[in-house]
Amino acid sequence: MAVHMKHPNPNARYRARFRCINGCPGDHPLNEVIYACPKCGDLLEVVHDLEPLRMTSPDEWKEIFDNRFMRTAWPYGSGVWGKKEFVCPDVRDENIVSTCEGGSNLFWAEQLGFRWGLEDLWVKQCGNSHTGSFKDLGMTVLVSMVKQMRSEGKDIPAVACASTGDTSAALAAYSAAAGIPAIVFLPKNKVSRAQLVQPLAHGAITLAIDTDFDGCMRIVREITGRHNIYLANSMNSLRVEGQKTISFELCQQFDWQVPDLIVIPGGNLGNVSALGQGFLLMKDAGLVGRLPRIVCAQAENANPLYLSYLRGFETFDPVTARPTLASAIQIGNPVSVKKAIRVLKQFDGAVEQASEEELAEAAAEGDLTGLYNCPHTGVALAALKKVVRRGEVKRSDRVVVISTAHGLKFTDFKSRYHFSELEGVECHFANPPLEVPANYEKVRDALFRALETRNAQFARQI
Ligand SMILES: *Cc1c(COP(=O)(O)O)cnc(C)c1O
Ligand SMILES: [Zn+2]
Repeated sequence: MAVHMKHPNPNARYRARFRCINGCPGDHPLNEVIYACPKCGDLLEVVHDLEPLRMTSPDEWKEIFDNRFMRTAWPYGSGVWGKKEFVCPDVRDENIVSTCEGGSNLFWAEQLGFRWGLEDLWVKQCGNSHTGSFKDLGMTVLVSMVKQMRSEGKDIPAVACASTGDTSAALAAYSAAAGIPAIVFLPKNKVSRAQLVQPLAHGAITLAIDTDFDGCMRIVREITGRHNIYLANSMNSLRVEGQKTISFELCQQFDWQVPDLIVIPGGNLGNVSALGQGFLLMKDAGLVGRLPRIVCAQAENANPLYLSYLRGFETFDPVTARPTLASAIQIGNPVSVKKAIRVLKQFDGAVEQASEEELAEAAAEGDLTGLYNCPHTGVALAALKKVVRRGEVKRSDRVVVISTAHGLKFTDFKSRYHFSELEGVECHFANPPLEVPANYEKVRDALFRALETRNAQFARQI
């Protein structure tokens, strides 16, 4: 049977370029090595020409995306590159470095929703990805562009990033796949063992620095500013371009319906900016007709955006981030704060925070209903619970929680929870193994005792 394949309008010339977020005049091509506006020093963003995108109708785009999604016509089966015209049209297919990222499942959190009084709660499992976090979505774009620039003769001997663990894992994997040297700067003893091993395994030059993430960020900015090593942090807006496909993919998975509320954890605030950018571009191109509400969730121990939100975003002051179980968002001076505030203002946005106890309990409650949450997803879940309790969400609202990493990267956090070793956390859902002698009656008694408490735990709370 012949399959009718739609293609984008062949006459369209897709164009995207860097522009200053403050609107300083002057554009820069995406294959220029530039991270900040040369006039005011602020962040750049990628802007797309809408005219060529509009030469193909919204319905045709949807059909094109659906035909490409999760198929093998390389590289368009990737959740990112299937939307190439809206992401990074400049990179040539032969330079694309892809692990077929994206295409992560949406988990209908039926049980958790029932407990919390929500009928339509979904978790976007961005951690079900090549390196176990959403960072793959942005890194595929950035490393592909580096490969292209090197093929054009640009002298870029290596790529580098500061990281709270997941960016370095993604950079190391994609650089290894491309055959490009990677350098990662990690705050010593502040990332999980699993996250530390990833860049080691991929052969990245791994520096454990005696500081926090913000300290690593300062050093990598200086190194990449003075040398021709390419900066892979999310202040490089190529990353944001890939990550913004989360919004496209969400809508696609809901047959192009826009959810009512999206809750997303935020640290450096690149991802919440990307989420918003994706929706704005889809709206401009006519793919969606409205915008969702966005709630950004921060750990109370690293909450500069939350504090700014309480002041109506009138001022923003960096903080010194205190240790948090949500180690990937232990950031006090987020690079993308201006972009994030701009997005939240356009999306009827709010910021909520979660204490260590709240994030650990929410992650565990989610696990008890079949998820396997990282602590950052725990922050988002705890924030959602608070918003629901305040009555700001209707029972029938479609709510999506962005899960940012795979729980298996945070085994230590989970095992400490279940052995009740987390300081200041009651560990309400702790489920340590029952140690029983090898004796039938003793095993039977222990088993049926446990079954009774288990049934009480499962009793649905509405
Ligand atoms: C990077 C990361 C975040 C935060 O994303 P930002 O863009 O820095 O706000 C949240 N969770 C996980 C697991 C991450 O790796
Ligand atoms: Zn500027």
